[in-house]
Amino acid sequence: MKTLTGKDLAAAIRARTQAEAAAGPQPRLAVVVATADEASLWYVRSIAKAAAGVGIACDVVDLGPEAAPGRIRETLARLSADPQVHGLMLQTPLPPGASAQELAAAIDPGKDVDGANPLSLGRLAAGLPAFPPATAAAVLALLDHYEVELAGRRAVVVGRSTVVGKPLAHLLLDRHATVTVCHSRTRDLAAVTSQAEVLVAAAGRAGLIGAAHVAMGAVVIDVGTNPTDDGGLTGDVDFAAVSNVAGALTPVPGGVGPVTTALLLSHTARAANRPHDPQEEAHDG
Ligand code: NAD
Repeated sequence: MKTLTGKDLAAAIRARTQAEAAAGPQPRLAVVVATADEASLWYVRSIAKAAAGVGIACDVVDLGPEAAPGRIRETLARLSADPQVHGLMLQTPLPPGASAQELAAAIDPGKDVDGANPLSLGRLAAGLPAFPPATAAAVLALLDHYEVELAGRRAVVVGRSTVVGKPLAHLLLDRHATVTVCHSRTRDLAAVTSQAEVLVAAAGRAGLIGAAHVAMGAVVIDVGTNPTDDGGLTGDVDFAAVSNVAGALTPVPGGVGPVTTALLLSHTARAANRPHDPQEEAHDG
């Protein structure tokens, strides 16, 4: 079984991004935060640190966990209109009563580096240029990096969220895979997933995918990041059990996660160099 780590790919994407950032005016990413959730704040700090490492300015605009939806929307609209800002993302979770999808509609699609505006998902579904969510793009980038053939193959995605499952299904379809999407109402999950030649787990349920869910030799990508009791992270895939069956498997942490952050920065550099021309990004790196 081959372990598909994301570290080298992430480093290659960061190096390319650094060169791209140095070639023009300094790219600037703004991250709007309205939460006190420690894991989210940690993630935002890690984005800011990674941005600094590749020469991208990163402004964290912290509105506090009590921020009203109207204030979040106004902030996104203001940053969308600010020519100094090239990339813009809204960190979740949001205060109760605020809808990420509705608010993300205020993000200029040309700056929507995490593919959160429903317009970006619509364009992706229509096969038009758009930034995909960085996580969905990271899955494709990993499959490409490890030269996993997709055309004509059976791909199963577990999870249908607008941040991961749905955009990923479109990206896989664009690459001519035969795509099935499973979700919480899917009957006999193992019967479906065990047909997959490429299986992506993005349900947010620790250990959901066991050996019985996986075909012999399948390529398995684990998007899940579930907190463990000891303060660590674990995926949706039971790594020990599935590694006896799968041909290749991503670890958690160290698989999809580092590539996601690197691609967010890559999208920002691209948005700075080609404003209002979002490009589908998943194929390189
Ligand atoms: P979500 O809760 O919005 O969606 C989960 C999806 O999984 C839903 O469509 C649901 O129907 C499905 N699901 C839940 N239980 C299921 C079950 N028992 N069987 C089949 N399907 C089931 O979550 P999300 O935002 O899409 O995130 C999914 C996971 O990916 C989470 O663990 C999240 O932390 C992780 N994530 C990782 C990254 C990264 O960079 N690595 C980025 C974003 C999200």
